[in-house]
Amino acid sequence: MFLPLLACLLACPRAREPTARVEQPKVVVALVVDQLAAWIAAERLPLLPATGGFARLRREGTWVREMRYAHAVTDTAPGHAALFTGKPPRESGIVANERLALGRPIPFLRDEATKLVGDVVTETPGSSAAALRAPTVADRLRAAHPKATIVSLSIKDRGAIFGGGKAPTATLWFDAGLDRFVTSTAFASSVPPWAAPYASHDAVVAARKSRWEILDEAFVKAHATGDDAIGEGDWEGLGATFPHDVSAAKKPAVAFRATPFADEAVLALAAAAVRARDAAEPMLLSVSLSANDYVNHVFGPDSWEAWDDLVRLDGALARFFAVLDHEVGAGGWALVAAGDHGGPPLPEQKTRPWCAGADRWQRPCGGGRRITGEEVVAALEPAAAEVVGPGHWIDGVIDPYVILSKSARDLDPTRREKLNVALSARLAQIDGIASIHLVSKPAACPAEADESVEALVCRSIGDDSPGDLYVVTRPGAFFDVGYVVAKGQSHGTPWLYDRTVPLLARGPGVRRAIVVEGPVSFTAYARTLSTLLGLPADPGFDAARP
Ligand SMILES: [Zn+2]
Repeated sequence: MFLPLLACLLACPRAREPTARVEQPKVVVALVVDQLAAWIAAERLPLLPATGGFARLRREGTWVREMRYAHAVTDTAPGHAALFTGKPPRESGIVANERLALGRPIPFLRDEATKLVGDVVTETPGSSAAALRAPTVADRLRAAHPKATIVSLSIKDRGAIFGGGKAPTATLWFDAGLDRFVTSTAFASSVPPWAAPYASHDAVVAARKSRWEILDEAFVKAHATGDDAIGEGDWEGLGATFPHDVSAAKKPAVAFRATPFADEAVLALAAAAVRARDAAEPMLLSVSLSANDYVNHVFGPDSWEAWDDLVRLDGALARFFAVLDHEVGAGGWALVAAGDHGGPPLPEQKTRPWCAGADRWQRPCGGGRRITGEEVVAALEPAAAEVVGPGHWIDGVIDPYVILSKSARDLDPTRREKLNVALSARLAQIDGIASIHLVSKPAACPAEADESVEALVCRSIGDDSPGDLYVVTRPGAFFDVGYVVAKGQSHGTPWLYDRTVPLLARGPGVRRAIVVEGPVSFTAYARTLSTLLGLPADPGFDAARP
């Protein structure tokens, strides 16, 4: 299924030019576009203008249409960890976006031993890479070049932390509570001076002051379904139709993330990082752009908003590439780009041309629905009581897990087994659920070539998996992300529309204007990045995985 010898697929300077020494790029950019699905890229990148960032990457580099993750839990934290470690969640340790603490979901990367750092060190717990159990590309660069500049930026902590590794020069993300970019004491006790003018509350407010209008109305209307289609959400008063006025939203710091202004704020920081770098040392600049993900979650990928956001992202990337040209020359920088996972259409989406035949991306042709945690708990409590008696048996649902209570976990093996059977049977009756898997970490999982749901789930479960039953939904069904309840869409399934992303690269040794169909393994991202950084090959990337 997978192409052989992926280490050299994209960047293999020594093999291509055995006698000439290839100039090491001064800046290597690791780009992640959150929720950029392979199917979206295949459909839309060719429609974007020649002046845009994506057209430039396609002209100057290689586009692999299909890169596949080897895990079922296609969410942001597991996806970013997989990109930057070359390992599935089972081995990276990053198995979910959230975990349950005292009955409430908290970010998986939240670390009570750290504090959030804004203007000052706050009393709020920060996030860290403590849960990470595998080295990242950034960690390998730090070991090889102790003085390297390693900067990682995102709107989300889980978008930023893996790109920067355990010892970044700076890792910054946006915190909606403080309404500014922050770091944590895991990485630094202050925001670096070069970032301060772009990270502050005032800078963020300035970045979102204009109304979000459609940039190219003819283009957007030619491709997207109507504005305010059924299923689009109104997030915190941002509204479901253009124009969107962030400053008029109920919570501007929250709604801001579902607008192109969020990416522009991150790219302004990225440009400042390039200008402030130590020119004598190599630089790894990781940039995870989250607006595409929030926009899809709220409005869906066929909305006017999603199409306009893509056009704006394309333009913002072109401008960022011009900054790189100016700072280090067009030949002085390299880039690898991918999505951290894909995503589905809205359940209400009417136009589904892929349903005319067999679909390469397994996109749904009906049966799409949003499953809420409340619905699952309400179904499971009576089912549990029936076999083990009255009590509190279910603590909650954290996509894709059902979490049992302590009293359920403490049941003797016979009653616990009865409970598992009853809960699995009840879950199987819920519309949209495909299969249920008991959470346990076996000594080994099948090799990556095995893409059965069982194997994908096996590689998703680690020592820190936050639940007891792993739920796989049917194509088109998903756990409601809850930004706007009963609206929008979400990812997280093992189906190919969620599990495949594009991979784009440009730089020394990367073939120009080439399209590779794939599928290639998700490890191609870490390997290409390592090659462009001049790091030695990591035998772990190619080893057969347990
Ligand atoms: Zn994501």
